[in-house]
Amino acid sequence: MALPASISASTAVQQEIARLASLRDVHAAMEWFRCHEPELRDWQLQVAAIPAPPFGEGPRAERLRSRFVELELQEVQVDAVGNVLGVRPGSDPEEKLVAVSAHIDTVFAAGTPLNVRREGDRLYGAGISDNGAGIVGLLALASALASAKVRHSAGLLFIGNVGEEGEGDLRGMRHIFCESPWKDRIGPTVVLDGAATDTVVTQALGSRRFEVTIQGPGGHSWSDFGAPNPIVALSRAIARFSRTELPVEPKISANVGVISGGTSVNSIPESASMRVDIRSASQQEMERVERALREAVAEAASEYPKRARNGGKGISCEIQLIGCRPAAELDPNARILQVIRAVDAHLGNRARPHRASTDANIPLSLGREAISIGAGGSGGGAHTLQEWYDPAGRDLGLKRVLLAVLALACVQK
Ligand SMILES: [Zn+2]
Repeated sequence: MALPASISASTAVQQEIARLASLRDVHAAMEWFRCHEPELRDWQLQVAAIPAPPFGEGPRAERLRSRFVELELQEVQVDAVGNVLGVRPGSDPEEKLVAVSAHIDTVFAAGTPLNVRREGDRLYGAGISDNGAGIVGLLALASALASAKVRHSAGLLFIGNVGEEGEGDLRGMRHIFCESPWKDRIGPTVVLDGAATDTVVTQALGSRRFEVTIQGPGGHSWSDFGAPNPIVALSRAIARFSRTELPVEPKISANVGVISGGTSVNSIPESASMRVDIRSASQQEMERVERALREAVAEAASEYPKRARNGGKGISCEIQLIGCRPAAELDPNARILQVIRAVDAHLGNRARPHRASTDANIPLSLGREAISIGAGGSGGGAHTLQEWYDPAGRDLGLKRVLLAVLALACVQK
């Protein structure tokens, strides 16, 4: 009886993973992870201690660049937007590269005390897991492959990319996949983001982000009293927008994340602004909530006369798009998905498909094969100063990355 194509294909992938895992050099690479955990922990503390605020990733990129050189990667470089790249060549230069990437930026602004430290078995500090864990995953993979001298047919492109968080707007990956000379050399992409082993991001959550600025004439709180107040107008806009209906299915979120404005308690502010993040897998829903935002701002502004009482200027509003991440989905028959499922089955790891906004949004939106997975261990408190990482079980996550990457890069024997 002939099996359906998808079942026989996945059986073949399953056999390939078992074959790979039984090879002596691959086994040695997997053992490397277990034996070197103390070093991995030190690397994580070192890398997380180097500040990498959005648009300020340079010092961390430089550190990663020198590690790439030490690991004897080739074509090591920091590109035009600040991504760090290095190649572990394969035996067949004609084959597309398998990209393995980890974002090197954090959400924390320059000057934030990162407070990176170890307490008992746990690591603490802002950015220690997101994406200290992913960066260490990259370095551990390159080190283990070098130490065990694993040979693979396709080359591996190691990427420490900038601009994943916040207003970075995926600019690092956008540059690599849309503008750089690497774009035609890359085949599948495995993104390492944070800790854990229990998910595979196969669906790219889209987002649209806005900066809303309301301006007025400003003035003295007593002598110019009556002039329109942009902070009050903005507050009214937020109150209106917060009443927008946000269904659970398809899920959509809307967040006012930053507000700013004003100069002193006795001044009528000249300006007030907020930053808003709207996310969904549904493009339609995102557009509906965007319209609600625009209406809320316009209605709040319409409560004010076009001209102030003294004949001066009234209230004006501007809504600027500051971020746009494409929504997309991996083809359910993609080889990369069969590979990670087969790896999970081989390792006895349970992982569920997940929808999130990651660096994989860019290759996925271009129809390329990509997944985003954690680099093992566990973590919590991401994007807070209380972030932590526990390396227990990290080797499972690293074995998972190793087997998936090697299956995609074809190891011959
Ligand atoms: Zn992250």
